Amino acid sequence: MRYVSTRGQAPARSFSDILLEGLAPDGGLYLPERYPQVDRALLARWRETLAQRGYAALAFEILRLYVDDIPERDLREICARTYMADVFGSAAITPLKKLDDGCYLQGLSNGPTLAFKDLAMQLLGHLFEYELARRGTHLNVLGATSGDTGSAAEYAMRGKRGIRVFMLSPHGRMSAFQQAQMYSLQDPNIVNIAIDGVFDDCQDIVKAVSADLEFKRRYAIGTVNSINWARLLAQVVYYFAGYFLATESNEERVSFAVPSGNFGNVCAGHIARQMGLPIAQLVVATNENDVLDEFFRTGIYRVRGSAETRETSSPSMDISKASNFERFVFDWLGRDGARVAELFGSTLAGSRQFDLSGDPAWPEVAQRYGFVSGKSTDAERIATIRAVYRQSGLIIDPHTANGVRTGCAHARPGVAMVVLETALAAKFAATIGGAIGRLPERPARFDGLEERPQRVRVMPADVDQVKNLIAHAGDLASV
Ligand SMILES: *Cc1c(COP(=O)(O)O)cnc(C)c1O
Repeated sequence: MRYVSTRGQAPARSFSDILLEGLAPDGGLYLPERYPQVDRALLARWRETLAQRGYAALAFEILRLYVDDIPERDLREICARTYMADVFGSAAITPLKKLDDGCYLQGLSNGPTLAFKDLAMQLLGHLFEYELARRGTHLNVLGATSGDTGSAAEYAMRGKRGIRVFMLSPHGRMSAFQQAQMYSLQDPNIVNIAIDGVFDDCQDIVKAVSADLEFKRRYAIGTVNSINWARLLAQVVYYFAGYFLATESNEERVSFAVPSGNFGNVCAGHIARQMGLPIAQLVVATNENDVLDEFFRTGIYRVRGSAETRETSSPSMDISKASNFERFVFDWLGRDGARVAELFGSTLAGSRQFDLSGDPAWPEVAQRYGFVSGKSTDAERIATIRAVYRQSGLIIDPHTANGVRTGCAHARPGVAMVVLETALAAKFAATIGGAIGRLPERPARFDGLEERPQRVRVMPADVDQVKNLIAHAGDLASV
């Protein structure tokens, strides 16, 4: 399997070659040259695989179709080490719960940091360690976080050979729980840097360091952001698992409702659907930061500035542009790299928006690709959290509430609606307390988290000081 760029101007590469990279050299995102097709017989086999051999075995069967440059024995072992019951809280890994007639919740947030990003990031940690050892090299992962991504990356990379993580976070601007989650890690290969500034300052430093190509090469700087293809691939697996858990036969169809920000999660759903998984609708649920809802309603994609990006009770969905959206547009526009390059390159750089509502292909977005969308407000999420709690006793988090609110409104008779639970309520205790008058339970492993000793360096928002720290962090080979 070869991987091509959405902007059509980069050479095709293998899985292992793009694993450690971010953007393609032409500024595009990598996608496989074709999607392997899953017919009814294979779907039946995979249903058996999940039921009898579990999630890790299903993950291996799916991954091997996309990864042909890691020996199967090794890939199988990597999957088995990643998707373990004691890492993800149960043998099911992504268990399904019933919310209401025809409406289900698929739990994606029982991993180490209680958010769905663990499902992909944990795999990435094992793949990185494997590939770096194979190449006899090392990597300095540099990232910026306002919460979920940074902690998922740290818990995936902690203790891994050949990898060191430098994670920038805005000093004093995350919740006490989020800070404690990251800063209490004592692993020597994890370096937490609290920047005196806001998230955008952290992001700007990462961009500035990455733009210094000489520094980047010399210190083997890499990233783990949401455009990484392996993260998307890992996410394809749980759409298949959710389908098998919500249905009894492969004649049935299922819809998924996905709390969305950067379009990474739902893009994996699109890929599963392109492979032939019987998905009826893909419901894109946003909060007040409705870049995506606006596109799927109107055909206009309009990126926002930071002044227009609102802080909400579902902070991991507070985005100004959806970095994975380009992948869907590439498929939808017949994989015309030149056109995608024009839209996402020059057009967005100029007017910050494009309008495809008049394109002959516009009706296909809903009709052929099954996309619908909706958004919810803070008050609607609170009401949804309350209603779900009253009805079922389940406590959902504010991100998941976006999915329940929009998903259940789009449910159709005879087609199960599976809402993806992207975080656990325990992460957002204050919002939950306000909604239902009691606090969500915390998994026992987080008892006393905020009281544990913390390891973090506070620094001004200064690129040279961050570079200096990386340059003097010592010899990675000894990590
Ligand atoms: C990252 C995140 C999202 C958004 O996912 P995308 O892949 O960016 O669309 C939603 N909910 C939670 C809890 C997240 O951490």
